[in-house]
Amino acid sequence: MCGVFGVTNAENASKIAYLGLFALQHRGQESAGISTTNEKIINTHRNTGLVFDVFKENDLSKLEGNNAIGHVRYSTAGGNIGANVQPITARIGGIPVSLSHNGNIVNSEEIRTFLENSGAILQATADTELILHIMARSNKTTFIEKLKHSFEELSGAFSLLVLTPTHLYAVVDACGYRPLSLGKMKNENGIPSWVLSSETCAMDLVGAEFVRDIAPGEILSIELATGLTQSNIFNLTEFQNRKLQHSKCIFEHVYFSRPDSLVWNILANDARFAMGEELSKNNPVDADMVIAVPDSGVPMAMGYAKASGIPYRIGLIRNHYVGRTFIEPTQNVRNFKVRLKLNPVRETVKGKRIIVIDDSIVRGTTSRKIIELLREAGAKEVHMRIASPPVKYPCYYGIDTPKRKELLAQVMTSLEMNEYLKSNTLEFLSENQLLNVMQSFQTSSLKKNEESLNGGWCTACFSGNYQDEIAQKKGCIEKLGAI
Ligand code: SF4
Repeated sequence: MCGVFGVTNAENASKIAYLGLFALQHRGQESAGISTTNEKIINTHRNTGLVFDVFKENDLSKLEGNNAIGHVRYSTAGGNIGANVQPITARIGGIPVSLSHNGNIVNSEEIRTFLENSGAILQATADTELILHIMARSNKTTFIEKLKHSFEELSGAFSLLVLTPTHLYAVVDACGYRPLSLGKMKNENGIPSWVLSSETCAMDLVGAEFVRDIAPGEILSIELATGLTQSNIFNLTEFQNRKLQHSKCIFEHVYFSRPDSLVWNILANDARFAMGEELSKNNPVDADMVIAVPDSGVPMAMGYAKASGIPYRIGLIRNHYVGRTFIEPTQNVRNFKVRLKLNPVRETVKGKRIIVIDDSIVRGTTSRKIIELLREAGAKEVHMRIASPPVKYPCYYGIDTPKRKELLAQVMTSLEMNEYLKSNTLEFLSENQLLNVMQSFQTSSLKKNEESLNGGWCTACFSGNYQDEIAQKKGCIEKLGAI
């Protein structure tokens, strides 16, 4: 759960990166950072907190140069400590390097143990620093070869931006778990100004046009002085001994990405609307209105309403300004924490049979409280419809899910969950139905013959079918309750 952003050949690159990170804030709220280069040295400013809090005008003016990368972080590996804030910087073979990473390295424990046993001094507890160590130890001669070497050593998800005084590199792992898009901005000096972003919504904010996605297994290098690009794609056959397949995170479309982003060339809003339509076709119920759990549930609920002919209403209001800390009332207010974020519209739901659409159920605690709030507000019936399958397995590829035994669908059947949540009925979209929805969109970012059998989507948190042996093993250990 992170966002990366980069820009080349742009005046005020730090300010453009700042805007880009602002648009990606939903991907991580723990820390933010920007590195820039004037093609001689790299300067970095980073800290814990929201983008707005980390950067003041003065901080951005000190970040000189026309080229920048940035990062917003939500920790999935390592804690929220200063040393883990990105971009992280180092010198490799005398060259200053700055790196922003979105994803999760699944063999990080093994790499960390190996590095520490061989004398490496590691500063951070997160996995990103390990990438720089692998590159620094590589006996390859060129920077690209060192990057490729890290490809061979790492398992898991990594969409990276790597900045040096001469180049910006964009890297996506062979499975392509996390999105990374290339865009272009207008400029007047005749040298292309490239933008790289986890999501295209950041390109809209800085006035860049989407060009294409970085492909799984690709290292794109941009020469800063000329803007010339070179694409190096490491064919999946190079990874055949690991039996890897393209594996885009389907959860990016279910929940994670902003609805106005093109994710793998599919608008997240359209995907969610179609999920809602499919949910309605397969799980109809007689009711007076369809309401959404905002935000990602909104297009899903609109899709459900359109397909069912039942009117869509705004029945829950989300407060977007809930900070990290708040002063709790001295007097005990029931469901205070959930009510702080979501409040039912009493006058709308009172006496009504309601279909509530949510994107997913993970622990189930929030869903349970939402149903309780709706009943307190006078709803006559509450039917839960979830626009994804039950989440039964943890994610090891960069989404912060709880351990397996804490996942509601792992310990209960759908019927038991319905009882626990106190809903009248509870239904999910099945894995096949979800995959069918995604298949109905034409993905132009991957050629058809490159798609794997399941259409190139990762669905491991629903099915437990992880791509790599390490995650598969971790899943089994968790099953035995050892983690
Ligand atoms: S396990 Fe789930 S959340 Fe993780 S990458 Fe796969 S689909 Fe996405």
